[in-house]
Amino acid sequence: MAKKLANTHVESLLKAFEIHQQKNRAMSYVTNVASFDAQTVAPKNKDAVNERAEAMGYFALEDFKHNNSENYDKLLTDLEAAYDDLSPEMQRIVYLERKNIEKLKKIDPKDYQDYAILLSQAQVAWENAKAANDFAAYAPFLERILTYTRKFTQLTKTVNGPLYNQLLDDYEEGSTIEKLDQFFASLKDRIVPLLKKIQQSKVNIRNDFMSRSFPKHEQLAYAKDLLTFLGYDLDRGALSESVHPFTSEISPNDVRVTTRIYENNFVSNIYSTAHEGGHGIYEQNLDKKVKGTLLGHGAAMSIHESQSRFYENVISRSKTFTHVVFPDLKKKFPNQFKDVTEKEFYQAINEVQTSFIRVEADELTYSLHIMVRYELEKQLIAGTLKVNDLPQAWNQLYTEYLGITPKTNAEGCLQDVHWSGGAFGYFPSYALGNAISIQLLKTMEKDLSLEETINRKNLTPIREWFAEKIYRFGKFYPPFVLLKKVTKEDLNPTYYCDYLETKFSEIYDL
Ligand SMILES: [Zn+2]
Repeated sequence: MAKKLANTHVESLLKAFEIHQQKNRAMSYVTNVASFDAQTVAPKNKDAVNERAEAMGYFALEDFKHNNSENYDKLLTDLEAAYDDLSPEMQRIVYLERKNIEKLKKIDPKDYQDYAILLSQAQVAWENAKAANDFAAYAPFLERILTYTRKFTQLTKTVNGPLYNQLLDDYEEGSTIEKLDQFFASLKDRIVPLLKKIQQSKVNIRNDFMSRSFPKHEQLAYAKDLLTFLGYDLDRGALSESVHPFTSEISPNDVRVTTRIYENNFVSNIYSTAHEGGHGIYEQNLDKKVKGTLLGHGAAMSIHESQSRFYENVISRSKTFTHVVFPDLKKKFPNQFKDVTEKEFYQAINEVQTSFIRVEADELTYSLHIMVRYELEKQLIAGTLKVNDLPQAWNQLYTEYLGITPKTNAEGCLQDVHWSGGAFGYFPSYALGNAISIQLLKTMEKDLSLEETINRKNLTPIREWFAEKIYRFGKFYPPFVLLKKVTKEDLNPTYYCDYLETKFSEIYDL
């Protein structure tokens, strides 16, 4: 009898929780659509931007009040009291929600709303400043975002050490400056000498055909075929164009991706598409136990990025993949590829070229771009680097790590969207993702051969392997716990460095 009563009690709590989440889902649906729209087709005129900012600010405040209410707090307390009767998924949700609302409680709702409005305006200010190469126009926005970030982080801090530790932990539970300094040092030790050897290599890579003209609409059609081949489901998603490619989980069965199309740089589209496709495939393959719940997203940025990198680099930049898709590419673009061999194509898509733009970076130098941002963020948050000195500091680090100096701020510190979105602490996840993608590959290869699978022109076994080991859990496990569960090891960047050495030694005949 007591058990039955307890069950009824838990059921009614779960029902109340579900009603609460319904409103969250509806609000996040609307704001996700608006944000997707803002980054793709919405007009950029000042009035329209302010109208959208006001609407987004309203929803941010509604969201804040809804999740920071006494009722919800009480409901969570009741669920915590019934913890043992909850499913493991629900236990994790209650844990994460408690963590979240304890943070919200410390923030003034007015600040929260003002911050959301600021971010909405900063997005456009950044786009305009980048187009006009005008850092001074953007600097006040960045300054204000940093002030809010420091204030919020100070108020909600739960981990030890500098403020930046908290921001790192927000993205990757368990990350600290100490651990990341070590991680980046181990990458630097192997990548920088390898880069120097490559720069002295006598191998000449032909790349003249890479800037040939490919009509936009044909590129877009190709991108859709590529997404389907990789395993992304276009029936439960869509492909659009944007300045900065991204993936948006509008709702569980509407996971959209974007790409960037340049007529004279067709590979930019191919690899943006493969990258976002990897993110999309992850979100589309969650188990129904977590789908649509608060666990219904990727485990963390690093694990997400390991998937986008896997589809972009490990698969789409591999020799086997080139072998499989090149004949088809040649058929679709006969004029552009008429005098190009498969080997030339493979070498060209893997050419190591130090460049200014992170998103266009080759597989080898990518993590060096991240190191620059990591060093600068650390200082911006600590306040040891002033916003006005950012362009100069940026250029100095590019000279030090990559041996090149940006000539404009548009190709320097104005290139990324992250900081104008308040995302400090996010960049390291990209480099972690690179390393994790190869650690996962090593484990995957115990079960299936990547080469044979790609050769069979059916990538389903790869998607299924990831679904079984990673995707289905959503946010159930913290990232490094999941990594260890799958690979039986802690993060180990050696695999990634070995992979780079083997691949590029072959290409550059080292
Ligand atoms: Zn990504």
